[in-house]
Amino acid sequence: MLTLLNLLKDGRFHSGQDLGAALGISRSAVWKQLQHLEAELGLSIHKVRGRGYQLSAPLMLLDPLKMAGMKAVWPITVLDTTDSTNAEALRAIGLGQEAPFLVLAERQTSGRGRRGRKWVSPFAENLYFSLVLRIDGGMRQLEGLSLVVGLAVLQTLRKLGVTGAGLKWPNDVLVGNKKIAGILLELVGDPADVCHVVLGIGVNVNMQVAEEVDQQWTSMRLETGKSCDRNILVAELGEQLLAYIQRQQIDGFSVLQAEWEENHLWQERSVSLIAGVSQIDGVVLGIDNQGALRLKVNGVEKVFSGGELSLRLRDDS
Ligand code: ATP
Repeated sequence: MLTLLNLLKDGRFHSGQDLGAALGISRSAVWKQLQHLEAELGLSIHKVRGRGYQLSAPLMLLDPLKMAGMKAVWPITVLDTTDSTNAEALRAIGLGQEAPFLVLAERQTSGRGRRGRKWVSPFAENLYFSLVLRIDGGMRQLEGLSLVVGLAVLQTLRKLGVTGAGLKWPNDVLVGNKKIAGILLELVGDPADVCHVVLGIGVNVNMQVAEEVDQQWTSMRLETGKSCDRNILVAELGEQLLAYIQRQQIDGFSVLQAEWEENHLWQERSVSLIAGVSQIDGVVLGIDNQGALRLKVNGVEKVFSGGELSLRLRDDS
């Protein structure tokens, strides 16, 4: 089906006859495939008598050859559609694929956030990126890793013209109070010995409408007013991740602590820390040298860490 999309992606008109000839199928088979593209991928295709078919807007698909050097750094798999790039990456680890490697997809049918929440992932609009690393230096190599990924995503967005973005502990990237990117780290193996970690990153790139997203969100396109070639984004994000992760692995997370705090949108804010059904109210002091949250609770500094914690602003903040 992507072959047909590759023919149409220039946004120009193509006759049913030409499409059929290029694909070696009948005109009615072309028609069926087009209907399938519309239904499956949510694309809108115009049909004009005498001219043929045209996508409502040109598409820039993911292409490793356009990712400026990244293919040389990590083997890249690009999928048209998958349940979740993190799930795909975990399956590949299970099958023995050697890390590092990168999984990208044009769309996710079950994109995931933390604690089973859904990440809305329409076709060809955003970035769905899962990088697999093998960690064999023990726990220290994992310290603050999800916060480090947040810094790399933030710098990437800035380089590509998104101003005003910042971080929310532990690993959200927001513009104001609108979410522009989400990060989900998943780990398999023994963290104290040898393990694999999947760095899952979803960035809203060219998305302009998404009724299913049930909290405030934005995209690079909405922030900059320009569409972004996701291949350039992959290359930039790859470079930033390489640089930040290398620093963390060599020097430890503590060298990034101050930079992370400078970019924390909720420093000094009154927040509630939610852990399941319990809630702790306090004021954000920052993070410690392992990436744990420092909160002032009833005048006393307390430190919190763990993947199940969520921060919410308090109304009186
Ligand atoms: P937390 O503060 O615990 O991180 P969160 O609600 O931001 O809370 P995540 O697991 O990070 O949770 O992300 C999943 C949530 O993000 C979804 O429940 C939904 O509200 C929102 N969401 C889903 N898809 C998108 C998207 N493409 N862009 C922005 N936000 C999204």
